[in-house]
Formats: sequence, structure tokens, C-alpha cells
Amino acid sequence: MTRIIDGNEIADRITADLEPCLETLADAGTTPGLATVLMSDDGASETYVSMKRQACNDLGIESIHHELDPDAPADALFDRIDELNDDPAVHGILVQLPLPDHVDRQAVLERIDPQKDVDGFHPENVGRLVTGTPRFKPCTPHGIQKLLEAEGVETEGADVVVVGRSNIVGKPMANLLVQKSDTGNATVTVCHSRTDDLAAKTRDADVVVAAAGVPELIDGSMLSPGTTVIDVGVNRVDADTEKGYELVGDVEFESAKEKADAITPVPGGVGPLTITMLLYNTIKAASLQADVDVSLP
Ligand code: NAD
Repeated sequence: MTRIIDGNEIADRITADLEPCLETLADAGTTPGLATVLMSDDGASETYVSMKRQACNDLGIESIHHELDPDAPADALFDRIDELNDDPAVHGILVQLPLPDHVDRQAVLERIDPQKDVDGFHPENVGRLVTGTPRFKPCTPHGIQKLLEAEGVETEGADVVVVGRSNIVGKPMANLLVQKSDTGNATVTVCHSRTDDLAAKTRDADVVVAAAGVPELIDGSMLSPGTTVIDVGVNRVDADTEKGYELVGDVEFESAKEKADAITPVPGGVGPLTITMLLYNTIKAASLQADVDVSLP
């Protein structure tokens, strides 16, 4: 029987485990604060930010929201980041991506104080991750690690194929999985848009992490029986629904389910973990800045 991995349930469990950390911080006089910055009128970005803010409010993390006109000059964003870097009530800063074309995304990520970089995208934090001394693990790959752990999927010695090489998902996922650690020690293959014969790679995998942003790229014929399939993709495709679209993953769920040992659905798989690990990183940021040990789960 294929296991359908319930990301909401795992995320709820981790969130509950974060509550004592908040109590410890409260005893020390600290309420973690997360600043979100939105410089876009893209509907999906607005939805993601409001979900993150809601999750903060639900747990007792202070949510501080800033919106900038997408046509504003890039300096307006840099100035705002500088203010947030200097604000002691702000422990974490998240600039929602994507940004308008006239704003240099890498320069923005580098402007954020690495101590407040709860997305883990600043080069200092990327370097720490690669060298095995992570400060903030990027939320989506970290959430996938937690999900594999919760499902008892052994990564040590496993052949893992990561489809996608973005700085947000693919590369940090591969970096985390090759680390010498209980949730790493995998043999990792990173596939991307120039990979020759993707199916041959995925068929050899014990675990497939699909993060290509291509609707239903991977189907059951590309998997061997017993594979664990983690579908990161969130793609809007036209559909005869009220909104005019539906969300599908990078995996063709029905055919993949026939082969997989365990599989994440879209939605309700990886997404909830991404938000939970943002809460985790914000609490970690507050604990580091306040110098209070909180024993994170
Ligand atoms: P991206 O566009 O930055 O990167 C996509 C990667 O996929 C690229 O490295 C590209 O080389 C590779 N790729 C594209 N076409 C391919 C193909 N045909 N075969 C093999 N590789 C191919 O995207 P991203 O930011 O990494 O996000 C990937 C997907 O994950 C998107 O659908 C995104 O919406 C989703 N996502 C979900 C969450 C979540 O929490 N669930 C978080 C982040 C991203």
C-alpha cells in the first residue's frame, strides 16, 4: 500500500514542539519578530506572505509586514532592509521572491543581515550550509529533511535524485543530503534542464525530490517500485474551477502512486513544512540574538 505523506500532520507536530521554545524565550523577555517584505502584486506571492503571517500569529511570533510599490526604485527596498537590520524587535527578515526585474535579487539577499536571514539565502549562510556548519537551513529543503525523518525514510546510503538546481530548493537540498549527518549521508544526483535522460536517473533512485516547476514532469513510468517521491512543485494550470486554475505538482500523482512506496500530495505535502521551518528559523534567530538556549526540535 502506498503511503500518502500528510505534510499538514507532520508540520503540526513540529509546530507543537516549537511552543516550549517560545515559552523559554518569553521567560527571557523575548518575543520573536519576523518582518515580511512584499514588493509585488503577484497573487501567489501575496497568498504566500499572508499564509506565513498567519502562521506567525497562530504560534505567537510577532509578524511585521512591509509592502513596497513594485515600481518603486530598488533603493527603497535597500533602505527598508537597512531599517529592519537595525531594528532589535525584528529577528528575522523575509523578502518575498520574485522581485521586479529592475531590482537585483542577489544584491537584495546580500543586504539582509546574515543573522536575520531566516530564508538562508545570504552567501554567508549558504557557505555555512555547504561546509556543514549551518545557521539557517533554507526552509523547503529543511522541511523535506524533517518530512523524510518523520516518515522513517533512511537517507544514509540511499540514492537520492534531486530534480532542479535552484538556489532555493535544488542546490540546498542536495547539500543537506550529502552532509555527514543523521539526516544526510545520501548519494545525491542533481538533475536539471540540461540533464540527458532524466528517466534513467529517476528510475535508479530510492528517493526522488522533484523541484523543477514543470507540471507533472515525472510520471510512474520514470520510477522504480518502492521509491519515495517528494513533490515540491506548485504549478498553476488552467482548469474549469471557480478560480480558473488548479494546483498540480511536478509529479503525475496517479501514475506515480502506483509505483511509489510513499508520496507527497500537492497541496498538503511539502508546502506546510516550508512554513513551519520558517517559524523554526525565526525562533532560532531570536534565540541566537537574545543568547537564550531554546533546544529546538
Ligand atoms: P526554479 O525555476 O528556480 O528552478 C527549477 C529548476 O528545475 C531549474 O534548476 C531547472 O534546471 C530545472 N528544470 C526545469 N525544467 C526541467 C526539466 N524538464 N527536467 C529537469 N530539470 C528541469 O524553481 P524553484 O524555485 O526551485 O521551484 C521549483 C518548484 O517548486 C516550483 O514549482 C515552485 O513553485 C515550487 N516550490 C514549492 C515550494 C513549497 O514550499 N512547496 C517552495 C519553493 C518552490
